[in-house]
Amino acid sequence: MKYYYDLHIHTALSPCGDNDMTPNNIINMALLKGLDMIAVTDHNACHNAGAVMEMGARRQIIVVPGLEVESVEEVHIVTLFPDLETAEKMGERVAQHLPPVENREEIFGEELILNSRDEETGRLSQLLIVATELTVEEIFQAATELGGVAFPAHVDRDSYSIVSNLGGIPDDLDVSMIELSANCDAESFFDNYPGLRDYPVLRDSDAHYLWDMSERCNYISTEDQIRDAGSLIQLLKGPADRYTIGAEESPLI
Ligand SMILES: [Zn+2]
Ligand SMILES: [Zn+2]
Repeated sequence: MKYYYDLHIHTALSPCGDNDMTPNNIINMALLKGLDMIAVTDHNACHNAGAVMEMGARRQIIVVPGLEVESVEEVHIVTLFPDLETAEKMGERVAQHLPPVENREEIFGEELILNSRDEETGRLSQLLIVATELTVEEIFQAATELGGVAFPAHVDRDSYSIVSNLGGIPDDLDVSMIELSANCDAESFFDNYPGLRDYPVLRDSDAHYLWDMSERCNYISTEDQIRDAGSLIQLLKGPADRYTIGAEESPLI
């Protein structure tokens, strides 16, 4: 069966995320788009993942809790977890390594914590869009230790990517998949970086606005049943021949 996904979505917790990126709006947009599973991946934190999961459970959308962690090398790594508890543990670990920079809302935007009724229950005063003190290696290690998966985000970008900042994927890093931006021309990218061609490729929206969320075109196909975040993570951590990652033409083209 094919499960249509978008595994890199920001909420209003990310200062650069639109304040309309609320739990209800994200789930409703996922329904409109026909997505089966999404991941909530705010910058260096996961305070809104639980509320989106709650709404997802009500509307039969699988919601994977995660964080997009910025390494000390300014590389973005998406980390996904089997349940909220482990994602929050990762959140605590990241928070311990986040430099104490005050958020200036008028410059960076608000960092809203929302409940499943889209009500603001708090806001963070510490800026989330900064590099942590964790290396790429340490982020991969922490995610794996906690039972999650990690992959380098938007590797085709000129900044905040493992390719732009480290020149490629370090030999000793255990990378099992990479993410390309939604609008990246994969063929010309892989012509420039042939060493990356053999990695399974996820295509996510990295949506900061509702309208940027993926269409029903990127899928994970498997004989296994993906019922929840836990079974998706188990599948991705298991043997690569249990699933294929693919893409169809976007229905918008
Ligand atoms: Zn990013
Ligand atoms: Zn992102």
